[in-house]
Amino acid sequence: TRTITVDDLKSLLNLIAEAMTREKSRLCELDGVIGDADHGIAMELGFSAAAKAAAVLDSATSDPTLVFNTAAKAFLNAVGASSGPLYATALMRAGASAKGKEFLTDDDLVDVFIALAKGIQDRGKAEIGEKTMVDAWAPAAAACGAARENRMPLATCLSEALAAAEAGTEATKDMIATKGRSSRLGERALGHIDPGAASATIVVSCFQTFFSP
Ligand code: ADP
Ligand code: MG
Ligand code: MG
Repeated sequence: TRTITVDDLKSLLNLIAEAMTREKSRLCELDGVIGDADHGIAMELGFSAAAKAAAVLDSATSDPTLVFNTAAKAFLNAVGASSGPLYATALMRAGASAKGKEFLTDDDLVDVFIALAKGIQDRGKAEIGEKTMVDAWAPAAAACGAARENRMPLATCLSEALAAAEAGTEATKDMIATKGRSSRLGERALGHIDPGAASATIVVSCFQTFFSP
C-alpha cells in the first residue's frame, strides 16, 4: 500500500492553489451573481498562502499534522471572507485526524478527507440543502467513506467523491440560501450555483487528480 508523505501533502496544496488561480475569475463571477464577487480571490489567496506556508516548513520534519495546522493558520490570516474560518477549521481537523502519524496510508487519507468536510460543517453549522459548500463537501465525504467501506481503492473513493461533489454543486441551483450572504436574496438565488460549492468541487477534483494512479 502506498505511503503518503509530507511532501505529497505539500504538492497537493500546491495543486489546489494552482487550480484556484485558474478558476479565480469563474468563482468571482459565480459569487458576483448571488454574493459579493470575492470568492475566487478568497480561495486563491487562502490556498496560495497555505501552500507557501507549508512549503517553507523544515523539509526534514515528517509531521502531516504540522503541515495541515500551518496551512490552516496561513489560510485564516490570508482570507477575510467567510470561507476563511471555514477552510481553516477544515484544515485544523485534517491535522487532528493525522495526529501522531509520520506518513498517511490510504485509509488515513480517507479519514483526512472526511475530517475536512466535517470541519466545514461544524464551523458553519449548515446542513445539506442550504445552498453552501456543504452541499458539495457532505455528499463527497459520504461517498468517499462508503466506497472505502466497500474496500475500494483510494482513487475510486475519490472519483466517487468528485461525482458526488459535482452533483451536489449542480443541485444548489435549485436551492434558496438560508446561510451566508446569499440568504438575503431569497428566491432570487434560484437558478444559480453556489460559489462555495463550486470551489469545494475544485478542491475535491485536486484530491482525485493527485491520488489517481
Ligand atoms: P463572503 O460571503 O464572506 O464574501 P466567500 O465569498 O469567500 O465569503 O464565500 C462564500 C461561500 O461561503 C458561499 O458560497 C457558501 O458556499 C459558503 N458559506 C457561507 N456561509 C456558510 C456556512 N455557514 N456554512 C458553510 N458554508 C458557508
Ligand atoms: Mg463572497
Ligand atoms: Mg466577501
